[in-house]
Amino acid sequence: MEKRRLYMDYSATTPVKKEVLEAMMPYYTTYFGNASSFHQFGREAKEGLDKARAQVAALINAEPREVFFTNGGTESDNWALEGTAFARKDKGNHIITTKIEHHAILHTCEYLQKVHGFEVTYLDVDAEGKVDLDQLKRVISDNTILVSVMYANNEVGTIQPIKEITKIAHQYGALMHTDAVQASGNIPVDVKDLDVDLMSMSGHKIYGPKGIGALFVKKGVKIHNFIHGGAQEKKKRAGTENIPAIVGYGKAAELAKANMDHHVKELTRLREKLLNGIVETIPHVKINGHRTDRLPGNANISFEFIEGEGILLLLDQLGIGASSGSACTSGSLDPSHVLMALGLPHELAHGSLRLTVGDFTTEDDIDYILENLPKVIARLRELSPLYQTYLKEHPEEK
Ligand SMILES: *Cc1c(COP(=O)(O)O)cnc(C)c1O
Repeated sequence: MEKRRLYMDYSATTPVKKEVLEAMMPYYTTYFGNASSFHQFGREAKEGLDKARAQVAALINAEPREVFFTNGGTESDNWALEGTAFARKDKGNHIITTKIEHHAILHTCEYLQKVHGFEVTYLDVDAEGKVDLDQLKRVISDNTILVSVMYANNEVGTIQPIKEITKIAHQYGALMHTDAVQASGNIPVDVKDLDVDLMSMSGHKIYGPKGIGALFVKKGVKIHNFIHGGAQEKKKRAGTENIPAIVGYGKAAELAKANMDHHVKELTRLREKLLNGIVETIPHVKINGHRTDRLPGNANISFEFIEGEGILLLLDQLGIGASSGSACTSGSLDPSHVLMALGLPHELAHGSLRLTVGDFTTEDDIDYILENLPKVIARLRELSPLYQTYLKEHPEEK
């Protein structure tokens, strides 16, 4: 029997959709021109660029001129933070973010603190991963120049009240940035309704190619350049544009917008079936993140008495690709900063498993997981000294 290839890690990256690849191909071979060139080859590339910008803008209800292409979510995050911090230095030196941001935000904040003397406050989150708005109101001041809160968390899926946070930021004259890499394309996102000033996005999380993303910069918002050089992207982001990737990202954005309702409904259904199935068949588990305000495809569960690495290893042997917030997978001894910020006890944080479903996940895939995961967990617990001790104390469970 051929080994199963079951991908359950859509939050890490997604495959490129066939329509996306088809849209990209001519831009490698036929319309290969440099979009800055003054001839038909350049114009053809420029047309692809313009169309993609309109497609990405439409996905988030922005104006095309407010969309700047970057090489991905990480660059967008770096640019948003550094570009506004440096542009607003005369207005204050305080930045507010959260403890559960992606490292693209956290490490940029540390850099701004250590090298450039900015003050950074890291907001707490509650047990379900929601930002503490009261704490935000307590720490924000006229010295605050930027608030950056992620739209949806990549590990536990929790969605933040960005509109409310933006209102508070603006009351104090601070700019509002949101890392919407997981949100944009996965749930409806409307920058006009949210009123955010800056928003990061990425192509490869929404069935586009890797190495392409965008930063939304609201008209009138001042931001320093991050990449210096030529006049591309209205002189805001230098470097010859990666037209095939941009065209692919545009197509992915168009598909995401067109499929949004179905995508949200179907992924939520599969995720609920998965979560409910796990809770029903496996004892001593905890669902991490917010139960309803979460990314449609995200299931994050902690299993008592065992390590996430062990689960990943056995799932990998079954052909299932998943992810964990526990230690070794991330190359450090501590479990993920997100699970720790949620206040998970160490033993639960170490036994975490993230399964993310996507547009190619089938009912059959979920059944396969629900059939095999209980066996995997039981096998690991049999080998777990923690579990054996627990059984001695609770003989009724044997
Ligand atoms: C993936 C991700 C990023 C980084 O995006 P890249 O395009 O991979 O650089 C940033 N923030 C969040 C929340 C992400 O999930």
